[in-house]
Amino acid sequence: MASGDWQRKAVEWLRGRQGPDDLAVFCVNLAIVLVVVNLFARVGALGWVALALVAYAMFRIQSKNLGSRSRENAAFLKALGPARPWVQNPRAAWRELRTYRHVRCTSCKQKVRVPRGKGKLRVTCPKCGTKFEVKA
Ligand SMILES: [Zn+2]
Repeated sequence: MASGDWQRKAVEWLRGRQGPDDLAVFCVNLAIVLVVVNLFARVGALGWVALALVAYAMFRIQSKNLGSRSRENAAFLKALGPARPWVQNPRAAWRELRTYRHVRCTSCKQKVRVPRGKGKLRVTCPKCGTKFEVKA
C-alpha cells in the first residue's frame, strides 16, 4: 500500500470527526511528559494517568459529536488564559518572548507590544492614544 493511499484513508476516516484539536494534542503531550517523569519518579499511578489521557485524546479525535467537542476545546483554551500560546505553539511563544516586550499603557492599562532591544521607545497607546516612553 502506497503512503498516499494511507493518507487518503486517514483523511476519509477523519471526515466528520473532531480530529486532533488543541485539547487532544495537549493530553497526548502531557501524557508523554508524565511517562518521561515516571521513568525517574517511578510512581505507578502516573502511568495510568498517562494512559487515561491518551485514551481521552483518542476519544476526542474519533468523536463525531463535534458540537460538544468544540465547546470543550473552547473552554479549555479559555481556561489556559495567558498560558495559551505556550500550549498551542511553544516555539512561536518563545520567539515572541525574545522579540517583544509587553508593557501597559500608563493611562488605561491596555497591554501594548513593543520590540525588544531598541532602546528608549515612544509608544502611542492604540486604545486611548496616550503617549509614553518605555525602555525596550
Ligand atoms: Zn491607553
